[in-house]
Amino acid sequence: MRYNPPSPLETPVLSRRFRLPNSQSIDTYLATDGYKGFEKATGMTQDEIIGEVKTSILRGRGGAGFPTGMKWGFVPRTSPKPKYIVVNADESEPGTCKDRLLIEFDPHQLIEGVLIAGLAVGAQQGYIYIRGEFRYLIGVMDKAIDEAYAKGYLGDNILGKGIKFHLATHSGAGAYECGEESALLESLEGKRGNPRIRPPFPAVAGAYQCPTILNNVETFCAVPAIILNGGLWYAGLGTPKNGGTRMFCLSGHVNKPGVYELPMGFNLMRMINEVGGGIRGGKKLKAVVPGGSSCPILKADECDLAMDYDTVAAAKSMLGSGGVVVLDEDTCMVNFALRIMRFYAHESCGWCIPCREGTTWLKKLLTRFHEGQGQRSDIVMIGDLSRNMLGRTFCPLGDAAAMPTIAIVEKFREEFEAHLDGKPCPYENIGSRLVTGNGLAA
Ligand code: SF4
Repeated sequence: MRYNPPSPLETPVLSRRFRLPNSQSIDTYLATDGYKGFEKATGMTQDEIIGEVKTSILRGRGGAGFPTGMKWGFVPRTSPKPKYIVVNADESEPGTCKDRLLIEFDPHQLIEGVLIAGLAVGAQQGYIYIRGEFRYLIGVMDKAIDEAYAKGYLGDNILGKGIKFHLATHSGAGAYECGEESALLESLEGKRGNPRIRPPFPAVAGAYQCPTILNNVETFCAVPAIILNGGLWYAGLGTPKNGGTRMFCLSGHVNKPGVYELPMGFNLMRMINEVGGGIRGGKKLKAVVPGGSSCPILKADECDLAMDYDTVAAAKSMLGSGGVVVLDEDTCMVNFALRIMRFYAHESCGWCIPCREGTTWLKKLLTRFHEGQGQRSDIVMIGDLSRNMLGRTFCPLGDAAAMPTIAIVEKFREEFEAHLDGKPCPYENIGSRLVTGNGLAA
């Protein structure tokens, strides 16, 4: 897989080795400060490691944005049970494609982040749960793990310091639902990937009901640089409540789609125009999904904002998983809502009725609407059905399906009305184009 050309506006921290020859190999990694953060951490106390991560203001990059240091601090270190480190590499949110690059181009950075987390809470075993469709990455990761064992960075007596840590990959089976942390843990244990009722949270009862740190790939990958350079350094790269950089996956109708590492708080319009080269074909911007398909959409006039968790939340959306999907003026928003709902209806695990039935019926309603068979009352029903799913499901997938639909109906009602009375989709003759960009150069 190729990586997009760099932008001079990037701040490469996690991606700084992506373009080096043999960037996957441990020799390249060791020649570029690799495992130095871990070696430094071996001389620190657990409280000092967690304190440094807290100082960095690193917030979980999986979507929720929970402070990572605080999460690590919840692990009961005096518990007699074994502790585990679990990496969520089940990246499957539509619009998001950066964890796979972090694994493909710099797998040792992830291993080092996991090792440091192990030191922080006294864990001796880690698992990397990789999305089933990313089968090729399992080979990349396994090779890197073998290299780390061979060089003494994994095993029973790491670097001769009496530290024990073992690491293994585990393949998912292609279920979006297993990106939810408790469903991931069930799947890791060999069971069907249904979510667990929480609390207890994984920090207390995670893998095999033992204390577990579970974070996203990007989150772990930020840790080596934080320990090596200090939490204050990392925090200073971002905004006061959002430390560091973010891997943004810019896709859709931009001239230069790609994965770009930018400081937290980078302006969204600058990202589209200066990093992404503006809208393709000189078209006008219609809307942006700021953080993956489950985030409420922003209209063009709402997009002049800083891309950090708090600012995007204040705009009633979410920074989510970093998947920025740009839609131009020729995009049919009814079709876009349908595309999103098809995905969620397909991925609903069926565990709870509001999600299983809600996504199915919303898909049917939106399909009927887009085919010109919709009724005016359907517009209200689509909104009502979505709102009735909110907060009534075991896991966030129900909300993830409902939130973007509610926002699209509220913000683009006129486009639904334009499909009424058997009228053909007004965008059909100009393409009614679907978003196909995967964020990577062809
Ligand atoms: Fe399954 Fe959907 Fe319920 Fe989540 S919200 S548990 S995906 S049915």
